[in-house]
Amino acid sequence: MKDIILATNNEHKVKEMKEILKDLPVSIYSLKEVDVDVEVEETGDTFIENARIKAEAIYDILKHRNRKDFIVMADDSGLMVDYLNGKPGVYSARYAGEHGNTEKNNKKLIDELRGVPYEKRTARFVSAVSLIDEDGEFIEVEGEARGYILEEHKGTEGFGYDPLFYVPEKNKTFAEMSGEEKNILSHRGKALKALRKEIERLLNL
Ligand code: IMP
Repeated sequence: MKDIILATNNEHKVKEMKEILKDLPVSIYSLKEVDVDVEVEETGDTFIENARIKAEAIYDILKHRNRKDFIVMADDSGLMVDYLNGKPGVYSARYAGEHGNTEKNNKKLIDELRGVPYEKRTARFVSAVSLIDEDGEFIEVEGEARGYILEEHKGTEGFGYDPLFYVPEKNKTFAEMSGEEKNILSHRGKALKALRKEIERLLNL
C-alpha cells in the first residue's frame, strides 16, 4: 500500500483532502503526521508553480529520509475576484500583509469591494494540485468554483474566505455548507476528483 503525503500545514485543507480521497486504498498523512516541520516559501507567480514548489520540497525531504512507497501531493489555492483584476490570487493567504490572518484578509476584501454592485462581485476559487510519484513523475490538475463576494460574512463552517463566497445555485456561502456539500462544488474537490483517476492508474487499481 502506498502512502499519500499531503504537503501542507493547513489543517483545514488536510481535512478536506482526506475526506475527498477517503475511499482510496491508501494511507493519507499530513506533514505533521510524518514529522516534517517546514514552511515552504511560495515564490511562484501562479498557483500551479507554487503547488509544484511545495510538492518538490517535501518530496526531496522524504527521499532524503529514504522513505519508500509514497506519493506527495500539494495544493496551492486562492481566490480571484474579477473586479480586482484577479486579486488576491496567489497572495490570498497574505492579502492583508500577514500570512494566514483570515480576519484581516476578509476585512480587506470587504473594504476593497465596498459600493460595488452585486452583479460585479463575481469571483472564482482556484485550486492547483501537483502530485509527485515516488519515481519523480509529476501529475498536475486544476479545479475552480465560481461565485459572488458578499458584503458581509454568512456562515461559520469552512475557513478563509468561505463566509464571503456565495454560490447562487445553492443560495449559500461555502461557510453555510457541510464539508461534504462544499467538497462536491469546490475548486479543491474538482481538482482532486480529476486527480483521482491518475492516482488509481498509479496504484494499478
Ligand atoms: P495557500 O494555498 O496555502 O497559499 O493559501 C491559500 C489561501 O487561499 C488560504 O489561506 C485562504 O485564504 C484561501 N483559500 C484557499 N482555498 C480556500 C477555500 O476553500 N476556502 C476559503 N479560502 C480558501
